[in-house]
Amino acid sequence: MKALKERILRDGKCFEGGILKVDNFINHQMDPILMKSIAVEFVRRFASTNINKVMTIEASGIAPAIMVGYLLELPVVFAKKKKPVTMENMLTTSVYSFTKDRSYDVCVSKDFLSKGDRVLFIDDFLANGNAAKGIIDLVEKAGAELSGMGFIIEKAFQHGGDYLRNAGIRVESLAIIESLDNCEIKIR
Ligand code: 5GP
Repeated sequence: MKALKERILRDGKCFEGGILKVDNFINHQMDPILMKSIAVEFVRRFASTNINKVMTIEASGIAPAIMVGYLLELPVVFAKKKKPVTMENMLTTSVYSFTKDRSYDVCVSKDFLSKGDRVLFIDDFLANGNAAKGIIDLVEKAGAELSGMGFIIEKAFQHGGDYLRNAGIRVESLAIIESLDNCEIKIR
């Protein structure tokens, strides 16, 4: 997606350990116009896919997911990183975050993810694929079906995308970063 790639090259910043900071338009300040274009592109790419629910993980996946849900007129459910005391019928899985170097539990209520659901997962980044694997686990535990996974930015050098595609999952990434070596952003 041309506008996204240009924005990454213009405003993205590299950090040690292969981290790309896009705080100026995705992760802190958000650009709703670009986010809408991102959602339109996801909808175009998943047009032939049978979906009845959009799913994401808090916090940065919520903005693109809600835009996709709005365009498709489908409900959006986000996996929570803190277990609310009031949550009933909960499904839980553990996710390792390499940006924070720790594991955390994510959970979703069976009231909002269950058998018969055909889920499109949307997130900001795909790196090693740990968050995506956690979602796959939750979808399986719920007896639901994963229809596809869409990421705004995929970092190809961390190979989460290889894992998901080899597992037969339909993956769409709107910008694919080949390398951040020497703090230079190389986009496919
Ligand atoms: P994964 O689980 O695929 O290894 O990493 C995905 C999650 O880690 C994303 O949801 C995102 O929040 C965070 N993440 C991974 N790499 C980056 C990065 O380079 N920049 C930012 N801002 N977040 C990242």
